[in-house]
Amino acid sequence: MKISKNELIFIPLGGSGEIGMNCNLYHYKGSWIMIDLGVMFGNSSVSNNELIMPNINFILENKIKLDGLILTHAHEDHIGAVPYLYEQLGRIPMFTTSFTASVLNRKFLSNSMQPAEINLLDYNKNISIGNFKIEIFALTHSIPEPNAIILKTEKGNIFHTGDWKIDPDPLVGEPINESKLKLISEDGINAMICDSTNVFNENPSGSESEVREVFREIFSKQKKGKIVVTCFASNVARLETILKVSEELNKLCVFVGRSIHRIYESAIENDYLVNFRNIVSEKQSKLISDDDLVLICTGSQGEENAALNKLIEENNKNIQINKNDLIIFSSREIPGNEKKNKLT
Ligand SMILES: [Zn+2]
Repeated sequence: MKISKNELIFIPLGGSGEIGMNCNLYHYKGSWIMIDLGVMFGNSSVSNNELIMPNINFILENKIKLDGLILTHAHEDHIGAVPYLYEQLGRIPMFTTSFTASVLNRKFLSNSMQPAEINLLDYNKNISIGNFKIEIFALTHSIPEPNAIILKTEKGNIFHTGDWKIDPDPLVGEPINESKLKLISEDGINAMICDSTNVFNENPSGSESEVREVFREIFSKQKKGKIVVTCFASNVARLETILKVSEELNKLCVFVGRSIHRIYESAIENDYLVNFRNIVSEKQSKLISDDDLVLICTGSQGEENAALNKLIEENNKNIQINKNDLIIFSSREIPGNEKKNKLT
């Protein structure tokens, strides 16, 4: 492929027109930047653990030296491939905000790799990466610190969204700053590269504060037996909702599943969820009445190896599911997961 040096070019290597493995390249005046490097979960009937990664042959075959990798947010479909492709890409400088950096470093450690050096981006500071001027803008989504990236060049400006919705009351993090958004658009945006699951759904996606009300109602009605909630581990606002409603009703919460524990550590490291005193360990939960207990567990997509499935198959040595227990699925099905979702 012939690249003319002064052209501003966008090349999607994954995630455009498909769900998962987001990977986007931008070129200007000999500089190359990548935004996001995620995975896609396989739909294989053989294994639930199959990971599909973007094909980076274009970079390797053209001997492209990237000036940086910017990560919009910490979902697997945006950062999941980083530990696997980081060496192959020549340990490129990485840029993101603090929560995403913390989640990514835990991924490096869980893959027995040294944590990488990550440059932290600041909402109020513009930086240069190669020949691009970079600004970030906070959006709302189902994970803390989802950021749009604004790429500025003499040839034009690009607003790359990452995943987003407009939640007027996100509960964790700030709502979208509309006046700053107006200022950005006044600078002139030549293209918006917009990426979001369910983007073609015309109905409003709702706010986390509405979800909290529904939880209050359901939790109050459950007088006998445990409440078991499964949700995406990375949905810190949802974790906060469950902890908060449990606290209001004097219930104690137990995290079940490795990824919830990992996200909780990253959340605490970044000052989210810090004020809750109603969290107990699986072992401690054995001493507490079922009527006072809320389990928050992984497995909202029916994954075979996740905590909920293990509970149902009586494979958890500390906790059993009983007939009075209420199980709540607090997540949408990721498009494409329908076949392997055997619990619903
Ligand atoms: Zn996302």
